[in-house]
Amino acid sequence: MNTEHVSEPSKINLCFDNRFTRELPADPETDNYRRQVEHACYSRVQPTRVARPRLLAYAWEVAQNIGLSRAECESDAFVEVFAGNRVLPDMDPYAMCYGGHQFGSWAGQLGDGRAINLGEIVNQGRRWVVQLKGAGPTPYSRQADGLAVLRSSLREFLCSEAMHHLGVPTTRALSLITTGEQVVRDMFYDGNPKSEPGAVVCRVAPSFTRFGNFQLFAARGETEVLQQLLDYTIRTDFPHLGQPSPAVYLAWFQEVCRTTARLIVDWLRVGFVHGVMNTDNMSILGLTIDYGPYGWLEDYDPKWTPNTTDAVGRRYCFGNQPQIAQWNLAQLANAVLPLIGHTKALEETLSGFVTDFENGWRSMMAGKLGLRSFEPQSDDELVAELLAILGLVETDMTIFYRRLGQLEFDGHAFDREQADAGALPEPLLDAYYAPEQLSRAHRTRIGSWLRRYAARVRADGTSDETRRKRMNAVNPKYVLRNYLAQLAIDKAEQGDAALLHELLDLLRHPYDDQPDKDAYAKKRPDWARQRAGCSMLSCSS
Ligand code: AMP
Ligand code: MG
Repeated sequence: MNTEHVSEPSKINLCFDNRFTRELPADPETDNYRRQVEHACYSRVQPTRVARPRLLAYAWEVAQNIGLSRAECESDAFVEVFAGNRVLPDMDPYAMCYGGHQFGSWAGQLGDGRAINLGEIVNQGRRWVVQLKGAGPTPYSRQADGLAVLRSSLREFLCSEAMHHLGVPTTRALSLITTGEQVVRDMFYDGNPKSEPGAVVCRVAPSFTRFGNFQLFAARGETEVLQQLLDYTIRTDFPHLGQPSPAVYLAWFQEVCRTTARLIVDWLRVGFVHGVMNTDNMSILGLTIDYGPYGWLEDYDPKWTPNTTDAVGRRYCFGNQPQIAQWNLAQLANAVLPLIGHTKALEETLSGFVTDFENGWRSMMAGKLGLRSFEPQSDDELVAELLAILGLVETDMTIFYRRLGQLEFDGHAFDREQADAGALPEPLLDAYYAPEQLSRAHRTRIGSWLRRYAARVRADGTSDETRRKRMNAVNPKYVLRNYLAQLAIDKAEQGDAALLHELLDLLRHPYDDQPDKDAYAKKRPDWARQRAGCSMLSCSS
C-alpha cells in the first residue's frame, strides 16, 4: 500500500447510475427484518454502522477501475464509506433476492444475507456494482447475523485479487476493513464458539447476479419477474446479443455455458477448488464468486476438497468441478425454460458445454505442457498418463509444472540412460513431498513419460526457450497457498498487515520469477498439513 502523505479530501467522488434498482421490481417493505420476499428482485436496506473501522488493505487497480484517486483511497472518507458507515447521496443500497440448490437440494429463498450493494458506478464506459460483504443483516439473513470475520474476509480479499492477476475471471475486491467489533463464530460447528475480529470487504463486479436469482422466480412461478430480470441482464451485461427475444434468451444461455466452461478450465489450470459450488454461488458472467472454504491443490489429488462439510460426499472436490458446473447449468436451463420453451435446444446447449469444456481443457493442457496445440490422437494418452503419475505419490502440482518447463531437451535426446537408471531430473525433485520415498517403479514410469514428452516436444518443433515461455505464461509460480493465507490471517489478527500487503504485491505477478520471494513458491510446510485453515476449512465465515 502506498503510504506517502496525501491531502485529505472530505469527499469521495464517484459517479453512480443505479440501473438495477431503477429498472427492476423492488420489495415495497423497507424495514429491515427477516422475511420471504416475493415478486421482487431486491430489498432496499442500509448497512449497519460499525464502531472503529480501520483500513487494512485496498487494491489500487480496482480503485482505478471505479474512478478513485490515491488521495481518495487514503482518506478517512474512504474508510467510512467502504465500512458502511457513510452512505453517499447517490447510492441506493439493496440486497438481492435469490435462491439456490445447496449440495444438490433445493434450498428455497437465500438472498444476500450479508451482502449489500451500494450502487452501480459508471467509469470510462464500464459499469461496476459495488458491494459490501459483512455490513450487517438484511431481510435475507435468515438465522445468521449478516457479519463477516477477518479470517474469511482476508481470504476473500487476497484470493479475488490473486485470481484476477492469474487471468481467472473473478469478482474483484476493493478494500478490506476491520470493524473494531468482535463476531462470534463456531468455526467447525463443534460447540466451540469463539470471538473473532469482524471485517467488511468491498467487492466489485459488473454484476453479482447468480444462477439462483433466476431459479427462485422460476420455482415460485413468478414468470413475469423472471423475464424482467433476464431482459435486464441481457440489456445490461450482454448487449451484444441484441434485443431480448426467445432466440436471444437461448443465445444468452449458450454464452453462460461457454463462459462457465472457460472458468472451470481456468480453475483446473491453476489448481483452484471453489469448495461450495452451490447454484447461488455461480455467476451468470462466469466469474469466480463467493470465496468461502476454497483451497489450492498442493499435492495433485483430484478428490481433494478443502471444505470439511463436504469431506464425506466430496461433491465439490477438484476433479468434480466440471460435472458440477454442468449440473448447475442444467438447473439454470430449467429456470429459463418457461421463457425459451424449447427443451431440446437447451439440452443440446448443455451437451455443447461438455464439448466446449473438453476442447478448452485440452488446449489448456497443451499450454501447461508448452505444446503448440493439442493432438487428440497422441496427446490424450500423454496427458492421461501424466495425471495418473502425478496422483501416485504426493506431488506438488504448481511446482511440478513450473519445473517441467525448466527441463532441457534441445540438442540431445532426453537422457535415456539417466531415466532408465531411475534418476529423476534434478529440477523435478523439489515437487515431491517425500522424494526419498519414490519407488524405483515410480521413477521408471515418470522417466519413460518424460522421454515420450521430450519426443512429442521435438515433433512439435518447439525449442526449449519457446516451450518455457509458453509454460511460464500459464503455469503460475506463486499461488495463494492455503497456509500462506493462514499466516497472513494470524498476523492480521494481531494487528500486523505487513504479510497481507506482501502477498498482495507478490500475487500481482504470479507468473514472474521473483527471486527474493522464493520462499513463497515452496511446498506446504509439514506443520500446515493438519492445521485448521491450512488444510481444513469450513463454511463458517
Ligand atoms: P454461502 O454458501 O456462504 O455463499 O452462503 C449461503 C447463504 O447464506 C447466502 O444466502 C448468504 O447470504 C447466507 N449467509 C452466509 N453467512 C451469513 C451470515 N453470517 N449472515 C447472514 N447470512 C449469511
Ligand atoms: Mg454465497
